[in-house]
Amino acid sequence: MRVVYSPAHLGHDITTQTVMGVQVPANEVANRAERIRATLAADGGFVFADPTEHGDGPITAVHHPGLLKFLSEAWEEARKQRVPYDFLAPETMTHASATEGMSPRFRRESPKIEGRAGFWALDTSTYIVSGTYAAARAAVDVALTAVDLVLDGGERAAYGLCRPPGHHAARSMYGGFCYFNNAAIAAQEISRRTGEHVSILDVDYHHGNGTEQIFWRRGDVLYTSLHAHPDRQYPFVLGWEDETGEGDGVGANLNVALPAGCSNETYLVALDRALDRIADEPGSVMVVSLGFDTYGQDPIGDFALTTPVYHEVGKRAAAVGKRLVILAEGGYYIPALGENARTWLRGAEGCAYEPLPALGFSEAGSRA
Ligand SMILES: [Zn+2]
Repeated sequence: MRVVYSPAHLGHDITTQTVMGVQVPANEVANRAERIRATLAADGGFVFADPTEHGDGPITAVHHPGLLKFLSEAWEEARKQRVPYDFLAPETMTHASATEGMSPRFRRESPKIEGRAGFWALDTSTYIVSGTYAAARAAVDVALTAVDLVLDGGERAAYGLCRPPGHHAARSMYGGFCYFNNAAIAAQEISRRTGEHVSILDVDYHHGNGTEQIFWRRGDVLYTSLHAHPDRQYPFVLGWEDETGEGDGVGANLNVALPAGCSNETYLVALDRALDRIADEPGSVMVVSLGFDTYGQDPIGDFALTTPVYHEVGKRAAAVGKRLVILAEGGYYIPALGENARTWLRGAEGCAYEPLPALGFSEAGSRA
C-alpha cells in the first residue's frame, strides 16, 4: 500500500497540553506519527510517497476563510503581541451565550491574539506553536495526495499519515488537537472530482464532531462514526445517536455511541451497522478516519480493543468494495500505535494477520 508522509509535522512540536485547566504532558506528540512511519517501513510492504501541494482551494471548500487566515497568522501575531508563552491558547472563548439575543454582528473577532484564538477554538488544549500551521497545511496535502493516488493513481487504497489529526475541526472551529479537517477536505475533494456520493467511516475513539457538522445538511456525503458516548467523553458537544442530519442531509449521519469497556465483539457488531449503511450508499470511495485510541491500553480511551481486531476491522472495511482513502486521526498509546496501524492496513489489503515481532522486528520498528 502507498503511504503519504511529510516530516513537516515535526515542527508541530507539542510537549504540554491543558486538561480541565491543568497543564500536563501532551498526548498528541510527534512520536506518534514517527512510530507509525517506522513500523510501516519495517514491514517492507508499504511504499512511501511525499505529499504534493494543493493550495487553499480544497481547504476553503469546507472551512471558513477566516479560520484559514487566523491559523496562518496566529503564531506570528502571538510573537508580535509578545504572548509570554511558547504556545498560543485562548484566554476567553466566544461562547454562543455571550451574545445571546444580540445581533450576529456583535459576535466579533478581537485583534488581541488570545481573544482571537477564542473566537475560533473549541477548547484550550489545542496549542498553536511555531510549526503548527505548516504541519496542519502539510497534513491536508498528505490527505489530498492520498486522494490523488486513489482517484488518479489507480490505487485500491492509500494511507495518509496525517498529523495533526483533523476530525474535531469544524467549518469555523479548531480544537481537539485538530486544525483543518483532513478527512472532510478529502471527502469534499472526492465529491467535487467524481460527482459521486462519498462515505466516511470514522473509527477514532472520539466522535468526529467537525466532520458531522461540516456535512450535516449534505445528502451526498454520508458520515458514520463509532465512538465513546458523549455522555462521558470528549467532545461532549455532539455524538448522540439521534443526530441523523437535517435538510438534504436527513439520514446521512449515523452515530454509534459505545459504552466504556467496549469489547472486540461489541465493536465488530457496531462496525457492521456502519458498514451495512455504507454498502447501501452509492459512490465508489470511502474515507476512513483511522484512530487507535480505541486500543485497550490507550491513556485517554476506555475501550478494550486488542491488536488482532484491527486486522478484522480493516478487512471488513475493504470488503464493502469501495476504494479507500485512509487518514490518520488519534491514538495515544505509542508503544502499540505502529503495530495497530500496520495490522489494520494489512487487513484492508487482504494480507494475513502476522504480528510484527514474528518477523524479527521490535515494536519500535527496529530489528529486535
Ligand atoms: Zn480520538
